[in-house]
Amino acid sequence: MRRLSSSVCSPSSHRLNPVTSMATGSNSLIWFRKGLRVHDNPALEHASKASSGSMYPVFVIDPRYMEPDPSAFSPGSSRAGVNRIRFLLESLKDLDSGLKKLGSRLLVLRGEPGEVLVRCLQEWKVKRLCFEYDTDPYYQALDFKVKEYASSVGVEVFSPVSHTLFNPTDIIQKNGGKAPLSYQSFLKIAGEPSCAESELLMSYSSLPPIGDVGSIGVSEVPTLEELGYREDEQDEWTPFRGGESEALKRLNNSISDKAWVANFEKPKGDPSAFLKPATTVLSPYLKFGCLSSRYFYQCLQRVYKDVKKHTSPPVSLLGQLLWREFFYTTAFGTRNFDKMKGNPICKQIPWKEDHDMLAAWRDGKTGYPWIDAIMVQLLKWGWMHHLARHSVACFLTRGDLFIHWEQGRDVFERLLIDSDWAINNGNWMWLSCSSFFYQYNRIYSPVSFGKKYDPDGKYIRHFLPVLKDMPKQYIYEPWTAPLSVQTKAKCIVGKDYPKPMVMHDAASKECKRKMGEAYALNKKMNGNIGDDDLKDLRRKLETDEESNIRNQRPKLNQVLKYLMRF
Ligand code: FAD
Repeated sequence: MRRLSSSVCSPSSHRLNPVTSMATGSNSLIWFRKGLRVHDNPALEHASKASSGSMYPVFVIDPRYMEPDPSAFSPGSSRAGVNRIRFLLESLKDLDSGLKKLGSRLLVLRGEPGEVLVRCLQEWKVKRLCFEYDTDPYYQALDFKVKEYASSVGVEVFSPVSHTLFNPTDIIQKNGGKAPLSYQSFLKIAGEPSCAESELLMSYSSLPPIGDVGSIGVSEVPTLEELGYREDEQDEWTPFRGGESEALKRLNNSISDKAWVANFEKPKGDPSAFLKPATTVLSPYLKFGCLSSRYFYQCLQRVYKDVKKHTSPPVSLLGQLLWREFFYTTAFGTRNFDKMKGNPICKQIPWKEDHDMLAAWRDGKTGYPWIDAIMVQLLKWGWMHHLARHSVACFLTRGDLFIHWEQGRDVFERLLIDSDWAINNGNWMWLSCSSFFYQYNRIYSPVSFGKKYDPDGKYIRHFLPVLKDMPKQYIYEPWTAPLSVQTKAKCIVGKDYPKPMVMHDAASKECKRKMGEAYALNKKMNGNIGDDDLKDLRRKLETDEESNIRNQRPKLNQVLKYLMRF
C-alpha cells in the first residue's frame, strides 16, 4: 500500500500483483456509487483490509438513472443527459481498469440498487459491506433500507465520509444543530479539515480477489449502445473524458502552474473562454468522486506553502472547494432544500408558469446570443463557466423571465456533467435571490456582460454557428443589424435566429418590481406565506404588469412611428 502525506502530489503508480481467488473466509463487498476511484477511498481500503476471503467491487446500473427516455427534450434518460451517462461509463471503465491492475475488477449489475445489493449479500455470503457515506436524499433513503437489512442479517456496515472534506453532521452539531447559512460563519465553525494532516492511501500493491459470483448476473462496464443510446444522437460531445486517471491528470495540470493557483480569483475569470477554460473543470470529477476532494485540498495546501503570496477564500481555488463544503452542509441541514415550498431558508416568490418561455431558454432560443450560446454549451458539453451559469440562471429567474428557479434547476440537474444535488440547488437559490444572496437589483445584462470578456463574440460564433458571420458590432444584439447586414451574414433575425423574447430593460425593471413586492410580503409575514398569499400576490403583480404595458404602449407606438420614417 502506498500512503501519501500532504507533501506529495503526484498521481499514484499501481503495481501489478494479481492474486488468485480463495474460496473461504470473510467476504467483503465494496459498493461504488460516487467515489469512483482507487486513491483515497476509505471504503475500498476497509473492504480490502477487512477481507480474509473475497472482495466484491460492485456498481449497480440503476434504471431510474440510466434508462433511455425517448420523450426527453434531448438525448439521455429522464434524469441524465447522454453526456453525463457517457462520462459515468468512462469513469466506470477507468475504475475497472484500475482494479484489474490490482488483481480485481468491477462487477456491474443492473436493477433497483437496494434489491440487487440484498441478493449479492445473500448469494456471496458477505460479512462486511462498505460504501461511501452520501448526503443526497436519494441515497439517504436507500442506504437506510440497505443498512437495516444488513444489520438484521449480521452484516457489518462501514460507511465513511469521504466525498467531502468535512462531515456535515459535525458542522451542524458544532453550530447548535443548525446549518450555518453564510460562508463566513461556515468557515469559522469548520476550521481545518481533519484530512489536512492525515496521510491518504493513494494506491495498493494488490487487492483481494473476486470470489465466485454464483447465479448473480454480472457484466463488464456496458457501452452507451448496450444501454440503448446511439453515438450519433449528438453532433458535438463534451470534450471532458470521465475517470480517475483523467481527473488526476487534470488536477496535476492545474496545480503544476503554481502562479496560476496562487493568483486564482474566481470573479476575475473569463466565462467565455472555452478552448482553455478559465477554471480547473474538476467539478465533474469531484461530482463522481473520480477525484478525492481531500487529495485536492492537500495539493492546494502544498502549493500555498511553496509560494509567497496567494489569494484566500472565498475567491481562491481553496475557497471554491470550500463553497462546495458550504453547500453540502446547508443542503444536509435544511428541510426541503430542493424546493421553495416548505424550505425555511427560501424566500417565497410568486414565480411565473410559462412553458414556452422555459423551453425557449432551455433550447437556446431566447434571441440573446450570449444566453443562447451558454445554453447550447450546456446541451453539447454539459459544462459551463460559473459566471456563464450566473448569466443564464439570472436571466431565467429574477433578471428577465421571472420563471421558477426549480424549473431551471431541473434543466441543469439533467444536463450538467457535474450535476450535484446540494451545489445545484444551493446556487439556483443564490442566483434567483431566494436565499443566501438578496441584492435583486443587481442583474446581469444579457448583452454587455458577455461583451466585456469577448467583444468579438468568438464564444457565440462557436456555439451558435448561425451567427458566425455576423459583424462583431451586432453579434450580441443581432436584431439591431440592418437587414442588408443580416442578409450578408446569412442570418435573418426572426427567420434564421429568433428575435429577443423580451426587451431586457423593460423585463428586468418589471422583475425588480416583482421581487420588491415579494420581499416586502416575506418581511411582513415573517416568512410564513401560505399558498393563498402567494396566489394573491401573483394576481396583483400580473394586473400591475398589464396596466404598465398599457401605459407604455403609446410611448412604444411613438418610437415605432419614429423608426418607420427611416
Ligand atoms: P473551479 O472554479 O475550478 O472550482 C473548483 C471546485 O470548487 C469545483 O470543481 C467545484 O467542486 C467547487 N466549486 C466551484 N464553485 C462552486 C460553487 N459556486 N459552489 C459550490 N462549489 C463550487 N457546481 C457543481 O459542481 N455542480 C452543479 O450542479 C452546479 N450547479 C450550479 C448551478 C448554478 C446556477 C450555478 C451558478 C453554479 C453551479 N455550480 C455547480 C457551481 C460552479 O459553477 C461549478 O462548480 C464550477 O463552475 C465548476 O467548474 P470548475 O470545476 O472549473 O470550478
